[in-house]
Amino acid sequence: MNERNAVVLTEFGADLEVTRFPGVRPGPGAVVADVTHAGVCGTDMHLQQGRMAIPLPVVLGHEAVGRIRELGEGVSADATGAPLREGDLVSWASNIPCGTCFHCATEGEPSLCETRKVYGINQSCAQPPHLSGGWSEQIYLQPGSTIVKLPEGIGPRQVIALGCAGPTVVHAVLDIGKPRAGDVVVVQGSGPVGMAAAMFAAVAGASKVIIVGGPANRLEVAREIGVGDVHLDIFTETDQEARVAKVLAETPDGRGADLVIEATGVPAAVAEGMDMTRRGGKYLVVGQYTDHGPTMINPHHITRKQLRVLGSWAFSPRNHLDYVLALPSLAARFDLDRLVTAYPLERANEALADMRAGRTLKPVLVSGDRS
Ligand SMILES: [Zn+2]
Ligand SMILES: [Zn+2]
Repeated sequence: MNERNAVVLTEFGADLEVTRFPGVRPGPGAVVADVTHAGVCGTDMHLQQGRMAIPLPVVLGHEAVGRIRELGEGVSADATGAPLREGDLVSWASNIPCGTCFHCATEGEPSLCETRKVYGINQSCAQPPHLSGGWSEQIYLQPGSTIVKLPEGIGPRQVIALGCAGPTVVHAVLDIGKPRAGDVVVVQGSGPVGMAAAMFAAVAGASKVIIVGGPANRLEVAREIGVGDVHLDIFTETDQEARVAKVLAETPDGRGADLVIEATGVPAAVAEGMDMTRRGGKYLVVGQYTDHGPTMINPHHITRKQLRVLGSWAFSPRNHLDYVLALPSLAARFDLDRLVTAYPLERANEALADMRAGRTLKPVLVSGDRS
């Protein structure tokens, strides 16, 4: 029985199907891993709904942890240089940039590479080795993958608790937003990206982190695990001006936050977030990952306040590595495990439905180790 279950999207809008594929062996430079945990993310929901142009059929899953089954010829170390062996628990960056385009080679910004390969998104499973996504019992990691061993004391659930929000926020907050020690930081949104942003802002030295999000159960989890110092529920405080006033009242002299991070995916949040930013402050847009259309802003506010408006798209393999290496300090401070709701791999449709309904914060598909 050398076959592996994988969850396949064959038609946009339709239920996902559990399909069996032959197990694989690695070619030179490649690695085969038995997936133990794979995250379900908002992007998967958008892919399933056909909101992004991808080749079908595809094994979904761009966030995963697995155990090394076999190393291909020439692979002996992970991205940090630590020796890799069969049986090691590893995580890998979901994307492989081309390395030669303008963005990769000249600008050194591989997150903007337009031809990068992304596991679970743009790699069709129609051709061998088939196993090209994390929602599977096994995955074929192509040559060029950035693979990292889990740090001592860090388990797969902790890696997947934030999923791709982790490296996304390493890129957005640490590379681009760059909070300074003592900054007051506002995070709009309390999904995985918002949670991760609030965590990394705190770890980076923010003196106060204000989360403006909801619904109440999400903010409750945030409070329980110590994410954010102030929590403002947009479902309770439905008046936009009142929300801005409450946030300003939490900042020194009521002047506004030094850095405001948008992690909502709701276009209307942008104008509100700019109102929460102080003169000379930074407004960082991370959450608009899918196109939900234009919104009204008053550009006079950008000039008058001398705002620095920043965007951040996806993340590079290096950001994934940094995220995994930051996990020991993150996990010491926040109970990451608390974010996870586990489902057997075969119940992927249910996991997606629960996420869509807002019943879970981070659904995770479990196979193999079943822990
Ligand atoms: Zn994701
Ligand atoms: Zn490139």
